[in-house]
Amino acid sequence: MAKPVVAIVGRPNVGKSTIFNRIAKKRIAIVEDQPGVTRDRLYAPAEWLGQEFSLIDTGGIDIDDAPLMTQIVAQAQIAMEEADVIVFLVSNQEGVTEADEHVARMLYKADKPVILAVNKADNPEQRQEIYDFYSLGLGDPYPVSGVQGTGLGDLLDAVVAKFPAKQADANDDSIEFSVIGRPNVGKSSLVNAILGEERVIVSNIEGTTRDAIDTRFTDDGQAFTIIDTAGIRKRGKIWENTEKYSVLRAQSAIERSAVVLVLIDAEAGIREQDKHVAGLAHEAGRGVIIVVNKWDAVHKDTHSMKKFTDEIRGQFQYLDYAPIVFLSAKTHQRVSTLPALIKKVAENHERRITSSTLNDVLLKAVATTPTPTSNGKRLRVYYMTQVKSGPPTFVAFVNNVDLMHFSYQRFLVNQLRAAFDFSGTPIVIVPRQRK
Ligand code: GDP
Ligand code: GDP
Repeated sequence: MAKPVVAIVGRPNVGKSTIFNRIAKKRIAIVEDQPGVTRDRLYAPAEWLGQEFSLIDTGGIDIDDAPLMTQIVAQAQIAMEEADVIVFLVSNQEGVTEADEHVARMLYKADKPVILAVNKADNPEQRQEIYDFYSLGLGDPYPVSGVQGTGLGDLLDAVVAKFPAKQADANDDSIEFSVIGRPNVGKSSLVNAILGEERVIVSNIEGTTRDAIDTRFTDDGQAFTIIDTAGIRKRGKIWENTEKYSVLRAQSAIERSAVVLVLIDAEAGIREQDKHVAGLAHEAGRGVIIVVNKWDAVHKDTHSMKKFTDEIRGQFQYLDYAPIVFLSAKTHQRVSTLPALIKKVAENHERRITSSTLNDVLLKAVATTPTPTSNGKRLRVYYMTQVKSGPPTFVAFVNNVDLMHFSYQRFLVNQLRAAFDFSGTPIVIVPRQRK
């Protein structure tokens, strides 16, 4: 499951996010013609010549009010920790700057391959004028143009060539899960609590060349792997508590997990950032469990749990499938219930339903609730078939995809949930026109 990670570093305005958007699978981030544009997506899936990897734009991680050089240094450090290969981006327009030299000196110390790319080499003459950059001491510079899209193929060839050799994948039946949430919700405490309950720690699996350490344990005969335990427990970096960095960490952990525990702090209540983090897990299609931590610290009466549950359901409507657990990492209350629940959600996430069973459910649903009509035309759902699991994904063959409204898709999803155990997993229905 671990894909190589590539980080793009460089001072502001050299074109990091432009290049990021070129390479990342979908174009989302907005690039404006001014420095310091807002970016949301720092971490994206990418692919070159069939080789999948994850891409990080470190430029999006900013530390409030810190001077420029501190920001650049922090970004380079993050790249050195997170990435398997670092792309150091400079700009042909400005030539070699002091900040570039500073970053280069840091990257010498990185125990990681560094590839130097010179952006804004927009035409053939400019592509010839990149020799100055040899002075950075990082080998051959690759001329690229983020705006034109030129040179990226050669750059990516060089990047992919530096990927670590595939590990003899610990391809057992271990369930990989992660613990995400904003700073201070208790991620680290919960990981420690889980591992404290589960004395049979099998091993720590070193990440590829990254700083990530995944921790394995077994519970009731089932192997589990907590993704990136080291990253969760690590402390004391200046960027540690920036929102962008915690989002980056969350995204990277989600990518590698089958099940994600979204942690909420019962004491502090639900915050905007909780929704953001939970949304990432949902969008990635992972199994999700909502964990309300610090339940020991809440003044409770008989209605407390119900009230908090209602609030979660109201605030995280898209996560209506996620089970909610109230626990305390501090007192270990209910921590021991987690492995069995994670296992159940992982199974539901991988559940496969045969077409005949599926169509029995569909027939019943259509018989009791007529399909909707629009402009005198009635939706007809001919049959459904599961094309994928993790998350379960169904194609519904219909007479007209435009008649398949969101509300009817939701109705079908609810029928599936009523018929089968899909708790904890999103369900995807893809309408397709039958020719
Ligand atoms: P970042 O701060 O490093 O992420 O830089 P951006 O991607 O936001 O780009 C900064 C500016 O440089 C924007 O105005 C881009 O349009 C411009 N830019 C990016 N790539 C190129 C390029 O290849 N050629 C030229 N001429 N401009 C570029
Ligand atoms: P992280 O930043 O999400 O990893 O959070 P930590 O695990 O470092 O916890 C942040 C703070 O919350 C620490 O002071 C913990 O002692 C405290 N904390 C964590 N879990 C609990 C809990 O279940 N109950 C209480 N009362 N405090 C907790």
